[in-house]
Amino acid sequence: MSWAQIIGQIQKESVTHKLTKPKAVRNDVKTCSACNTEQPLDNFYLRVKHGYTSQCKACYIQYQKALNAKSQAKKRALREAQQKIPTPTYPS
Ligand SMILES: [Zn+2]
Repeated sequence: MSWAQIIGQIQKESVTHKLTKPKAVRNDVKTCSACNTEQPLDNFYLRVKHGYTSQCKACYIQYQKALNAKSQAKKRALREAQQKIPTPTYPS
């Protein structure tokens, strides 16, 4: 098998991998891991590599918002900490 054939095979496999639906999904309904309600797949985000998110869109948005808020708070704390560092003064 030549390198071109091997690469072609890998590309073919990765494409089919992207197109196949995750096995856990049955009857186009999925249970949200956050609010524990069964909902149609339309209520879940589809991610290329990982399949559907384990949380429904509403929960996922909330989760992302919480994550964002956390990182924002972290950034703010870092900025404030940096501002507290006195700027060095050099004798002229
Ligand atoms: Zn949910």
